[in-house]
Amino acid sequence: MQVMERENQTAGAQQSLRGKSAIVTGSTSGIGLGIARALTAAGANVMFNGFGSSPCINDLRRGLETSFDVKTAMSFADMSKPADIAEMIDAARTEFGQIDILINNAGIQHVEAIETFPVAKWDSIIAIDLTAAFHTIRAVVPEMKSRGWGRIVNIASAHGLVASPFKSAYVAAKHGIVGLTKTVALETAEHGITVNAICPGYVLTPLVAKQIPETAHARMLTEQQVIHDVLLHAQPTRQFVTTEEVGALTVFLCSPLAKSMTGTALPLEGGWTAQ
Ligand code: NAD
Repeated sequence: MQVMERENQTAGAQQSLRGKSAIVTGSTSGIGLGIARALTAAGANVMFNGFGSSPCINDLRRGLETSFDVKTAMSFADMSKPADIAEMIDAARTEFGQIDILINNAGIQHVEAIETFPVAKWDSIIAIDLTAAFHTIRAVVPEMKSRGWGRIVNIASAHGLVASPFKSAYVAAKHGIVGLTKTVALETAEHGITVNAICPGYVLTPLVAKQIPETAHARMLTEQQVIHDVLLHAQPTRQFVTTEEVGALTVFLCSPLAKSMTGTALPLEGGWTAQ
């Protein structure tokens, strides 16, 4: 009997999110798109968010809706604007009826020495990579508490755990989101809500591709040297992490079987922070 129950639980994990509804910020590209794909494959309805061309995003959504028999929606809300964030949350509620899962993923980066780091870049990075999560979380926690179930996953970074030079705003924002994760986890622990951060190492997305010339300039290296001697040098596996890996961990954290994991900052970085 116990064996059967265990098998049912494991089988349930495959489509464990059927009937749940999620928002994934910054899901038109890279890691957020990988997470949105994984959540729909697990049966969840997903509100996409981010920038990009409507026809491409609509094609992508139709494909996922057909493949996995889920609903999707799209919001072009700018995560640096609290009023846009409020509209996105309202639109998700109207579309799906409720929000069970919130993935704070939208993020930007800028690589430059502290003396010349542009003030406007600092402000944008803190707004999008940190403050946006404050606004989304405080908007969804009341309804999650009222239903006694919720899952919040914040995409931090290995830079939420350790620093690298020339990334002052990003490292500050990512350490900040780890702190936000722990605090909200404690506040919601008795309400069936879990709040966790995933800390990926380098994933070869447009965000990282853009950093390669910036880092080459800041450190006076060639772009090949940046890839091998800076980015992958940080990761003992010497391999980029994939969006599929981040998507799979997110689905697990959102599953019923992860109900006792909360307040964590999980490294997914090829051994980077073990050194
Ligand atoms: P990406 O550039 O491929 O995608 C970023 C997404 O965020 C896009 O959908 C973009 O449209 C959206 N976005 C950007 N600014 C926005 C705004 N103001 N409002 C709404 N959406 C906005 O980047 P990525 O590499 O997939 O990064 C996603 C997240 O993962 C970020 O938080 C990043 O810090 C984190 N991360 C990335 C890596 C990596 O190596 N790529 C590693 C660790 C953590």
